[in-house]
Amino acid sequence: MTELTQTAEGIEPTGPVQADPAITFADLDLHETILAAIRDAGYTSPTPIQREAIPLARKGRDIMGLAQTGTGKTAAFTLPIIDRLIGGPKRTRCLILTPTRELCVQVEESFRRYAAHADISCVAVYGGVPLDPQEKKLRAGVDVVVATPGRLIDHLERQNVVFDDLEVLVLDEADRMLDMGFAPQINNVVSQIPVYRQTLLFSATMPPEVEALARKYLRKPVVVQVGVRSSAASTVTHAVYPVPREKKNALLVHLLTSKVHDSVLIFSRTKHGADRIVRDLEKAGVTATAMHADKSQPQRTKALQDFKDGKISVLVATDIAQRGLDVSGITHVVNYDVPQQAEDYVHRIGRTGRAAKEGDAYTFMAPDEIGMVRTIERVIGQPIPRISVPGYDFGTVAAD
Ligand code: AMP
Repeated sequence: MTELTQTAEGIEPTGPVQADPAITFADLDLHETILAAIRDAGYTSPTPIQREAIPLARKGRDIMGLAQTGTGKTAAFTLPIIDRLIGGPKRTRCLILTPTRELCVQVEESFRRYAAHADISCVAVYGGVPLDPQEKKLRAGVDVVVATPGRLIDHLERQNVVFDDLEVLVLDEADRMLDMGFAPQINNVVSQIPVYRQTLLFSATMPPEVEALARKYLRKPVVVQVGVRSSAASTVTHAVYPVPREKKNALLVHLLTSKVHDSVLIFSRTKHGADRIVRDLEKAGVTATAMHADKSQPQRTKALQDFKDGKISVLVATDIAQRGLDVSGITHVVNYDVPQQAEDYVHRIGRTGRAAKEGDAYTFMAPDEIGMVRTIERVIGQPIPRISVPGYDFGTVAAD
C-alpha cells in the first residue's frame, strides 16, 4: 500500500501545447483497427489533448489531464487503452470511473465505437437501473468496466467483478466526482485495485482536493493541460464576426476607430497579410506596426517593447511571431484570419483578460473559415457567440 500514498513530487507540467498540424493519428502509432475506427468516426487529426496524452499514455505514464468536455479527452484516454488491450489476455484490465450515469454511458459508447474493429468487451455499470443485467455481463467477463462509484461498490460487494488483474484506472471528471461526495467510494474502489497500475486522471479544474487525489493515486504523473484556463475564460469576452473576406479590412477599421482601444494585437496568417493590414490601417489614420519573420530580431524586439510600453497601440503579428510572446495587459486580440490550430486560439485569447482585466477577443470568419471555427468550438468545449455590427452592412456569411 505504500505506493498508493506516494506523493506526486514528479509532477512536471508539459507547458503550452505547441501546434503541429503535421501530426496525424497514424503518427501516434496506434493499432490499425483503431485507425480504421477513427476513419469511420470521420476524425482527420488528433486534438491537442490527444496529441499530448496518447504518446505519454502509450509509454505507460500516469497522466493528470486538465481538460474540459469537448476537447476530445475521452478519445485521449480510450485510444491508448484499446491499443494496450488488443491481443492481450481476456481479463478485466481497465476500469473507468465517472461521476454520472450520462457520462458513464457516453464513455462506454465511445469505447465501443473506437474498439468496433477490435475484440474488446466493455460494460457500463451505473445506478438507477436493475443490478441483474449488469451482474450477468460482469460475471461473463469483460475487458473494460465503465462505472459510477456507488453502483460499482454494490457489484464489488457481491463479487460480480474482481480487479486483481486491473492494469489501467481512469478517473474521469475527478473534480465532479469529488463535488458529488464520491471521495470515500473512490478510496474504497482503489483499495481493491493493484498498486502497480497506470492511472489517468482527468479534471476540468484543479482545486486542492483534486491535487490531493492526484498525489494519492498517481505516480510521477505528467500534467497535460489544454483548453481555456478558467481564470482567462471568466474575464475574456470572445466573439466571432461572420464577414466576407473582402470586407474584413472595412470591419477592422470600423472596430478600431469606433471604440477606444489601449492595445490591440492583430493576428494575420501571412507576412504579406500583416503588411497589407498595416498599410490599410495607416491609410485609415490608425498607426500600426507589423511583427513577423521578415523583420530583423532587433526590429521585432523593439516593436514588442514599444507595444508593451504603450508607444504603439496596434501590433499586427503573424502566427509565427505569436509564439513565446509574453504581452500582458492587452485589451483586445483580433484574429483577422481564423487560427489554423485550435490551441493557437486558446493561447491568443489567454493573452487578454489577464489579472482580472476585461479583455475582448474577436475572430473574423469568412465563409471558408466556418469549419475551422467549429473545430475550435469543439476543442474549447463552448460555442463562440456570433455578433454583427449594428447599423453597418459588412455582408453576411451564409450557412454558419
Ligand atoms: P470529449 O471531449 O471527449 O467529450 O469529445 C468531444 C467531441 O469531440 C466528441 O463528440 C468526439 O466525438 C469529438 N472528437 C474527439 N476527437 C476528435 C478528433 N480528433 N477530431 C474530431 N472530433 C473529435
